[in-house]
Amino acid sequence: MSAAAEAAGPQPGVPEVMRAAVLFGPRDIRVVDRRVPLPGPDEVLVRVAMCGTCGTDLKIFDGHFPQTPPLGDYTPGHEWTGTVAATGSGVDEFAPGDRVCIEAHSGCGRCDNCLVGRYTACLNYGNRAKGHRASGMTVDGGFAEYAVHHVNALYPLPPRLSFEDGVLITTAGTGLYGLDVAGGYIAGLDVVVFGPGPVGLTTVQACQALGANQVILVGTRPAPLELGRRLGADHVINARTADPVRAVLDLTAGAGADVAIECSGGTEAPQQCTEVTKRGGKIVIVAFYPGQVTFDLGAVVRKDISIHTSRGEGGNNVKRAVALAAQGKLRGAEMVTHRFPLEDITTAFRVVRERDGNPVKVVVVP
Ligand SMILES: [Zn+2]
Ligand SMILES: [Zn+2]
Repeated sequence: MSAAAEAAGPQPGVPEVMRAAVLFGPRDIRVVDRRVPLPGPDEVLVRVAMCGTCGTDLKIFDGHFPQTPPLGDYTPGHEWTGTVAATGSGVDEFAPGDRVCIEAHSGCGRCDNCLVGRYTACLNYGNRAKGHRASGMTVDGGFAEYAVHHVNALYPLPPRLSFEDGVLITTAGTGLYGLDVAGGYIAGLDVVVFGPGPVGLTTVQACQALGANQVILVGTRPAPLELGRRLGADHVINARTADPVRAVLDLTAGAGADVAIECSGGTEAPQQCTEVTKRGGKIVIVAFYPGQVTFDLGAVVRKDISIHTSRGEGGNNVKRAVALAAQGKLRGAEMVTHRFPLEDITTAFRVVRERDGNPVKVVVVP
């Protein structure tokens, strides 16, 4: 690109054209040239440093996600971080050169739920004209050299945190939001976390930071479980080699855990949560499932268990995640196991789908 074209971009030094991954059809993603988006008045243009992949992206790639932009004109990626390149006319909170991380959701700001702060449950979900956007889900996201986002959804990345940490901030916000909606008071409690994926592993660390009595991590793959132990789980249980229900009951003097947090998305996990949670305890579900799930709801009622669910990373919980990470209590970068250049995004998603090489967080670097 010529120097003249560079100068014609939205800000000095910002080109007009970028490389971006575009989803053309189910499992058909290609890296092509796209125009660099211009930030609207309340938006910020970010030079993306890296973008994480997650299970939600697999559903998007398979065409099983509602309200995405039209195929052929849609860049996914909702766990990105980078450096501010330009700001909209109404933005004075950030300036070019600032390092930022994000939350995916920005609500419409005008519906009943947004008015009480529940913007991940925005009643105008997917309605861009009314102001809602979920980066990489209902609007273009971060599998590209540049991305725009609403100023509400950006957070300064403290100097001691790397971009790898920044990617995991979005993930950590999910588990923290789940704890938030379930009451948030974890000090002294016995906690079980199902699923040693990125959400589970950040939730383990959050529960330790919040003073849990013991954090028990249940999974099926040795490598992520071992990582969970390094990141602070007091006990790890491989459900392929031990009965997780028996093991949790043994670790809690037969009573069960105060809180079970379901981060796995495994269809058997809700039943296991029911069996490991003590009478009067709580189950927090932050996973998505491939279909309908069967479990003994009567047992939940008989045990006086309350079930809480949450979606995404709302309620100031990304800000909380940034703070925990800055204190060294949330170690994100250790969870990044694989890096791929943007041009190899298809390979990156094959690794995520096939779990090739025991990935925890696979990131794409544009
Ligand atoms: Zn995700
Ligand atoms: Zn709303």
